[in-house]
Amino acid sequence: MSTAFLARPWPAAAPGSSHSEPGGGGVRALYLHVPFCERRCEYCDFVSMAGREREADYVAALRAEVRGLANRLPRLALASVFVGGGTPSFIEPQRLAGVLDEVRAGFSLTPDCEVTLEANPSSTSEERAREWREAGFTRVSLGIQSFEPATLQFLGRVHDDVRAQEAVAEVRQAGFTRISCDLIYAVPGLDDRAWQSVLERVIALGPGHVSAYELTVEAGTPLHARVRRGLASPVDPDAALRQHRIATLSLEAAGLHQYEVSNFARPGQECRHNLVYWRRGHYLAAGLGAHAHLPADLARLLELPVPEGAESVRYWHGRSLPAYLASRGTLPIEGWEAITPAQAEAERLLLGLRLAEGVTLDGDPAARAVPLVHAGLLWRRDQSYGTTARGQEVLNEVVRRLT
Ligand code: SF4
Repeated sequence: MSTAFLARPWPAAAPGSSHSEPGGGGVRALYLHVPFCERRCEYCDFVSMAGREREADYVAALRAEVRGLANRLPRLALASVFVGGGTPSFIEPQRLAGVLDEVRAGFSLTPDCEVTLEANPSSTSEERAREWREAGFTRVSLGIQSFEPATLQFLGRVHDDVRAQEAVAEVRQAGFTRISCDLIYAVPGLDDRAWQSVLERVIALGPGHVSAYELTVEAGTPLHARVRRGLASPVDPDAALRQHRIATLSLEAAGLHQYEVSNFARPGQECRHNLVYWRRGHYLAAGLGAHAHLPADLARLLELPVPEGAESVRYWHGRSLPAYLASRGTLPIEGWEAITPAQAEAERLLLGLRLAEGVTLDGDPAARAVPLVHAGLLWRRDQSYGTTARGQEVLNEVVRRLT
């Protein structure tokens, strides 16, 4: 179910309401979106915009939304806060610090709470990284994407390979011990040898976490327009698969284990926030375009008319900056959906089978898994099942046969 734009005043907190039970009704994570970027990349489909116009107003609106959520859902204990974008590192560090102050004022953070900042090399410096540390960030996820000049140019990135290398050194120098590097493969013009070299360069920098994503051509992006005009050709699926295998082999050999299809980490350096998503956990979210996933009872506290029997609720905000700024003092939900138990189970499988840890199956799904195990697409340990390398390559089909 979804509705048109729902801008409504924050509902008053129910007397005595609290969600201090384990995980605050299971909500342990908060995502905050900062949409500003230096310029828009060719492939970008994220909620982002070039420039920092209205940055101060945006941060004030974001803080107001965090405050409103905290007032309505008091005493949630967060194990992860993730500030993503956009390019959060692009805005003033003091503003980021103010956002985290707001979070700490309204929620409790667990002692080992992971607080991640997404950063781009072009807006990273040692001085800024020190300010991020002082603000309370514990992890930096750097959008390196490549060290190949032609690839960086094709993607429309602002930085070059040297800046990317320096950025890793700067955040480390500032004291961060949890550093992630994002890479993109299957980029036109990036052959296997060049991709291997990108992987070797990132491994040499020693991050504890690497994400390697396939370039996808999303409708409405400048890259999509180029493809439609015949000015660029997407990499064929077999070549993309081969580059994914190259990444897996190289990163695993370097001690970064593949804990999710596209994500690799040294032990203990896995991204706790994304694990919440992949384990189909619940999370709050605030900011332009943000998506949240809440237990049905918490969604009702936000006055969403959730039907009986719903397993959980997803809601999302719109992508218009003026509308978001105008929403201050309201809950700026653009649409929402009640998730049925059957949908929840399909989601659990689709997300969980991306993880090395797999999922538990019993009853009919376990029976349906038997031929998939025999076909070498799934592995089984007691009641746990996960995809083999071959199974990952046909993941949607595996999930279809299980549900
Ligand atoms: S830096 Fe990221 S969010 Fe910003 S335009 Fe590029 S891809 Fe989009």
